[in-house]
Amino acid sequence: MQPTILVTGGTGYIGSHTTVALQQAGYRVVILDNLSNSTPAVLDAIAQITGVKPEFTQGDVRDRATLDMLFDAYKIAAVLHFAGLKAVGESTEKPLAYYDNNVHGSVQLLSAMQRAGLKSFVFSSSATVYGDPQKLPLTEDHPRSATNPYGHTKLVVEDILENLYRSEAGWRIARLRYFNPVGAHTSGLIGEAPQGVPNNLMPYVAQVATGRRPKVQVFGSDYNTADGTGVRDYIHVMDLALGHVKALQSCLQSEQDLLTVNLGTGVGYSVLDMIRAFEQASGKTIPYDLVARRPGDIAACWADTQLASQKLDWRAQKGIQEMCDDAWRWETRS
Ligand code: NAD
Ligand code: UDP
Repeated sequence: MQPTILVTGGTGYIGSHTTVALQQAGYRVVILDNLSNSTPAVLDAIAQITGVKPEFTQGDVRDRATLDMLFDAYKIAAVLHFAGLKAVGESTEKPLAYYDNNVHGSVQLLSAMQRAGLKSFVFSSSATVYGDPQKLPLTEDHPRSATNPYGHTKLVVEDILENLYRSEAGWRIARLRYFNPVGAHTSGLIGEAPQGVPNNLMPYVAQVATGRRPKVQVFGSDYNTADGTGVRDYIHVMDLALGHVKALQSCLQSEQDLLTVNLGTGVGYSVLDMIRAFEQASGKTIPYDLVARRPGDIAACWADTQLASQKLDWRAQKGIQEMCDDAWRWETRS
């Protein structure tokens, strides 16, 4: 019997790629998603890649009746929790929506798990919990802080998970701190599909390469970095997906555990590095303007990857050229 995994937010960007990796590793996947930022067409694309269409329930993680129904209907071995809202700017305009989706949603999910006697949980946290880095690379014991409501929801849920772990024996929890996920599945069948104007650099660059937008605005060229533009640790979304499979395996094998690990590559690239790599992938010139810094941005951020390597036997494999090649294939899909 294949273990069944509940993936919340499984039709979204990272959840869909992780569903592919889970199915390819032999797990059966049940997705719960309210489709607020994704479409059911993703399910057919996953089926095309893996040969198996994941089971799907359209519903909200805040809806306790739906959660209870799912835990009664399936013998779930673990939950991977991706569902939530993720736009930093929007979170300052609509903080209550962010606390409701991300914090209340997680509490509802964990309460339903507790009722069902299920204690294996993998959580999508973020490198944003490190705030402005005091030293690089970022190790997991770096002090945490948040400068916006989105980041604060991640801090709060991390704390809730720690409280829960200490309150009751048997919880097996992984808090995964993602750096900057980019790219798409190599098939070009699934990828990131932002609604409206992309907030993140790489989807924006991709849309400039196709001619959908005229120019990239490079936010800040006076940072204390090699070329003055912001530096980040970009990680291929399929590497990130495989990190989840390893974290899940680690949870399922342990008696109890609270694991907190970075998922990054350990290497930082600047905005201009990424634009150049995308020019190479697309064969297009990508015009850009150097403009003012974006409020709240940090200069540079990259992961210390030793703990992930030790605890999960996992390392990112794909470099920025592959990230850009795959993002371009997805962007130019017919
Ligand atoms: P996404 O928006 O593509 O996917 C999230 C999915 O959750 C969407 O399909 C959406 O419809 C669904 N969803 C949202 N609220 C829901 C709710 N209340 N009930 C049920 N479904 C709901 O985002 P993503 O990039 O795949 O991010 C997944 C997770 O990873 C999020 O928790 C995000 O905060 C975290 N994360 C993302 C990044 C990033 O750069 N993409 C970085 C760090 C952490
Ligand atoms: N960035 C940029 N132009 C954009 C979007 C982002 O110059 O249109 C820069 C941003 O200032 C940061 C990097 O690209 O240095 C990555 O930003 P993104 O929003 O993708 O991720 P973040 O690290 O902020 O979560």
